[in-house]
Amino acid sequence: MLGMPFTRALRLMICGLLAAACAPLSVDQERSLGADFSRDFNRRTVLVRDPAVTRYVSAIGRRLLEHAGPQPFTYRFHVVPKTGINAFAAPAGYIYIYTGTILEARNVSELAGVMAHEIGHVARRHIANNFNRALATNLLHQVGVVAAEITAGPGAADTARALGGLAAMGYLNTFSREAEYEADAFAVQVMFKAGYDPRGLATFFETLKEKKGGRSVPAFLSSHPATSARIANTRRMIEGLPRDARLERHDNGRLEQVQGILRKTAGKHRR
Ligand SMILES: [Zn+2]
Repeated sequence: MLGMPFTRALRLMICGLLAAACAPLSVDQERSLGADFSRDFNRRTVLVRDPAVTRYVSAIGRRLLEHAGPQPFTYRFHVVPKTGINAFAAPAGYIYIYTGTILEARNVSELAGVMAHEIGHVARRHIANNFNRALATNLLHQVGVVAAEITAGPGAADTARALGGLAAMGYLNTFSREAEYEADAFAVQVMFKAGYDPRGLATFFETLKEKKGGRSVPAFLSSHPATSARIANTRRMIEGLPRDARLERHDNGRLEQVQGILRKTAGKHRR
């Protein structure tokens, strides 16, 4: 599934890069990687453009980011019209949220939880780390397209990118147990500071756990660490926070309004 065509030149370029594998992906490189992926993905994918939806999601993202400390990246939030419960982070803060995630959220704190978690992966440089890990372990063929772009600039890997860009993103979004815990911890802290009830993260995990018995296992909740362990870990972190009755769970029907719009337009998009 992750296979992609390689030209000899491309392979040579990547081998050249491999020689410099010790140099971690810099913030600048991650920025250009993210911009490239996002431009390409957004051109090829139908995104939800309804301003009521995009503004709503972006506002939640902004509120979280205001409490996330200084960030080297400019975050952007996009809604992908797919029914799966999923979200993923491209390099440099391009966050994609599936409509299925928004529709399954029982309140705004659950949606904010997913978003804060994805921001956490970017903020903690997990995607850059995955890229470096790929270099170090000869897994370059899985992110080779991305590597080719860094060495040769956009355009060099057009054909391969068309076929493999999303697969490479899939690889870059396969996180270790430690990275998942770190993103959860980031989410709990940032949600709390932003005034969202961090229990939303745990309750959304519980929804996902129930769904896991179904036919689709959300990639957002990778198989390790086990869902139950993540729920328990998240709940433990929340217990350590000061009690604050003002933490927001519901937002006066605004989420429900957005869900209504998405349900209405859902018929236009297939999975
Ligand atoms: Zn994650």
